Amino acid sequence: MCVKMKYYLSWGGGVNSTSLIACHILKLLKIPIDDLTIIFCDTGAETAETYKYINSVIPILKKLGYRIVILDPKNKPEFYRKHIQGYFLPEFLFLKKWILYPRVKVCQYEWKTIPIRYFMKKDSGAAGFYKRNCRHLLSIASDEQHRAIKKDKQFFKYPLIDLDIDRSKGQDLIKAAGLPQAHKTGCFFCPLQPQKSLFEVLRRHPLYLNQIEQLERSCNDTFTSIPKYFYNKMPIRKYYEYLYAKDALGWKIRKKLPLQPEPIIV
Ligand code: SF4
Repeated sequence: MCVKMKYYLSWGGGVNSTSLIACHILKLLKIPIDDLTIIFCDTGAETAETYKYINSVIPILKKLGYRIVILDPKNKPEFYRKHIQGYFLPEFLFLKKWILYPRVKVCQYEWKTIPIRYFMKKDSGAAGFYKRNCRHLLSIASDEQHRAIKKDKQFFKYPLIDLDIDRSKGQDLIKAAGLPQAHKTGCFFCPLQPQKSLFEVLRRHPLYLNQIEQLERSCNDTFTSIPKYFYNKMPIRKYYEYLYAKDALGWKIRKKLPLQPEPIIV
């Protein structure tokens, strides 16, 4: 019996994943539109710009006939593991007194990988055999090939690498497909983001600084009693001041900064 293959595209609202959608709109991917599902997993911690972008693109995609699924632990708890059900990421960290450390991507696993996997299993109707009937399209651009995991090449597909599309070409494709220009995405408090990106997010949204401070205060740090932003040596407010000074001096300066920053009004 011939099994109809189903394709699932993880969409984060950023440049790469939106450029993958653009590839499909521009017919660069040989996948019938009815076999494709676009999935957005909402961690509850995306920046305001990302939510605005997602909300502006969804109507365009729906009009073109795309199937879009939004997964979140409150409205679709069945696709999350029991202890995550009902909790967005910031709430979970706050209530469970957890802290995120870089490299341990438990957040990504619980709020993105698992829900997508559970959804595929249910949607394909193949449960344990879902990998046979499904393909997971990942939006790793050709200029970041090292991020493409080596195992399971059959199940995970990397169309941007296959088509040699890097971030800059991706932006052109987004434009050509008639979609609004995408930007960098990620949780506002992501400990993995570069310093400059964190600084920009906090400068645009001073309230996020307060929210990270609340998380700092709530966390059970077993190593020290001083609240500090995830893995940093200083609390987030002090760290922001440090980044502020660094920004004023230029990001390329690596030597120790004189920590006499401008006062921050938040
Ligand atoms: S953006 Fe950062 S904090 Fe958010 S899920 Fe991904 S790794 Fe975790």
